[in-house]
Amino acid sequence: MPVTPEAPQTRSRRRDDIAERFKWNLGDIFPDWSAWEEGYKSLETGIERYAALKGTLRGGAASLLNAFRLSEELGQLAYRVWYYPSLQYDEDQRDNTVNAKRQQVQILFARLSQAESWFNPELLAIPLETVRTWMDQYEPLRVYRFAIENLYRQQEHVLDEAGEKLMSLASRLAAAPNDSYWALSTADAKFPSITLSTGEHVTVSYGQYRALLATRRQQSDREAAFTALHDTYKAALNTYASLYNGVCQRDWFHARARGYESTLEAALHGDNIPTSVVENLIETTRAGVEPLRRYHRLRRKALGVPTYQIYDFSIPLVTFDKKYEYEEVLDWIVEAVAPLGPQYQARMREGFTGRWIDVYENEGKRSGAYSAPVYGTHPYMLLNYTDTLDDVFTLAHEMGHSMHTILSHEAQPFVYSSYTIFVAEVPSTLSEALLLEYMLKRSTDPAERIVLLQHAIDNITGTFFTQVMFADYELRAHRLIERDQPITSDILTDIYKSLLHDYYGDAVDTNPLTGITWARIPHFFSTPYYVYQYATCFASAARLAREIMQGNTATRDRYLDLLRSGGNDYPMEQLKKAGVDLSQPDTVRAVIDQLDDLVTRLETELHP
Ligand SMILES: [Zn+2]
Repeated sequence: MPVTPEAPQTRSRRRDDIAERFKWNLGDIFPDWSAWEEGYKSLETGIERYAALKGTLRGGAASLLNAFRLSEELGQLAYRVWYYPSLQYDEDQRDNTVNAKRQQVQILFARLSQAESWFNPELLAIPLETVRTWMDQYEPLRVYRFAIENLYRQQEHVLDEAGEKLMSLASRLAAAPNDSYWALSTADAKFPSITLSTGEHVTVSYGQYRALLATRRQQSDREAAFTALHDTYKAALNTYASLYNGVCQRDWFHARARGYESTLEAALHGDNIPTSVVENLIETTRAGVEPLRRYHRLRRKALGVPTYQIYDFSIPLVTFDKKYEYEEVLDWIVEAVAPLGPQYQARMREGFTGRWIDVYENEGKRSGAYSAPVYGTHPYMLLNYTDTLDDVFTLAHEMGHSMHTILSHEAQPFVYSSYTIFVAEVPSTLSEALLLEYMLKRSTDPAERIVLLQHAIDNITGTFFTQVMFADYELRAHRLIERDQPITSDILTDIYKSLLHDYYGDAVDTNPLTGITWARIPHFFSTPYYVYQYATCFASAARLAREIMQGNTATRDRYLDLLRSGGNDYPMEQLKKAGVDLSQPDTVRAVIDQLDDLVTRLETELHP
């Protein structure tokens, strides 16, 4: 068992006592609240100005440009008006005054979107050919070409007025399965108590469950936590299945009503992603599960457990509690991105010295980590840095998002300055990959090397393989509905069991509760067909990182162009320009090869 080091409380939890250089400087957004107030007011009057433009688009190219430009002006201001109170609120969420201002902005945003609602139908009533002629003849309008054509593309599945009215009435029902899922799994859930081998009594909530699995070296404790939690899901399993049936039926209703061939096609249409991307992802991954199995066989052996089960996945192979001082790791993170060039490194340093980051936790501060893209200023990053290795990687991850934001905000006109989720996790993942290589190269501590390798491997198994398996499950379940087949708890459990077998083979043992873990995955109920994007981002990043680390400058330049391209094209096209084709198996195979390599390196570290 790890001995808790005598950690003197060097850092106060009071925000006032934390040195300024560890806190973000929101003064870059507005100098003070009265300046914010002015910004808020000009947004308010702008909303009225925009609403007054209704009915003007038929006036031609100049009128259309006028509407676009005002919308952009308001959009830019909206970032700063929103983030000033919002980031301040996250510093201390107990602050009611700031919270009230934040909510005030949310209300204003609802008015903004209402004031803008005339635009799409009015534009779409004009034939695309007419608008194309306007763009050909009027240069200032040309920058909006992609945005305009994308709007018309999405029009294909928009119904007539009566149809849209019916859909909007039905949308009130759409949230019911997910709302009920949360009520059942959280609000109404009775979490069981268990007694651990140490004699402690703990209540197994989901958060506690994860913590127990990641820290309890005694396998029977992990097993007890797993059994207790999953027994509660089992007790309501038919209800969970019925709710999931509701999710699939809703998706199929939506897809058919709007004229899509399948639920998958409907889900991917927004970003113009072909369904073959998900199909290829699943197929190629299924054919490449051997390194995943090898890793789990290695874990089984290293842990020396009589049976190796899914509740053994997150226990670290070695005990490791090295601390990483924040100011010490900043240089590493900058040096790690050397393959991306000195300019990239210099921009990154600016963020570290320019007080973009809120580093340490304090009472009332929002948990977790994020990078906030404050247009017109610079990105801001919230951390809760506690000197662990995971925190170092989180910093590198958020820095990857921030660099993406900086480069795309600088290079793109406002209309294309933000990027889609489909691309967003590429730079954050790549940033982590570069840091890992950098740290592995210089680490001489065998335990640290094992932990680094395990960190990288767990990223692949968790962010890639698990998410692909989830996508596989969603696709199978939705296809049952599309083929008029029933969905029951037995059917879902059978699907899940067969997936576990297809991915893990005999490398992992099962128990009577393993097959019902589908009921525990909130993504299935809240955001169907979403998680595959983590896997495609991961694959793209793996592919690019490999070439960049090999010193391929052409790939590096294409990658930096990808970051600079913001949202100026469909994400698949953006990635293709960077040399990543997600419709081809080799991109997905890059992850499988990477895992294979990492497992081999881990094997060597464990048995030198
Ligand atoms: Zn991220």
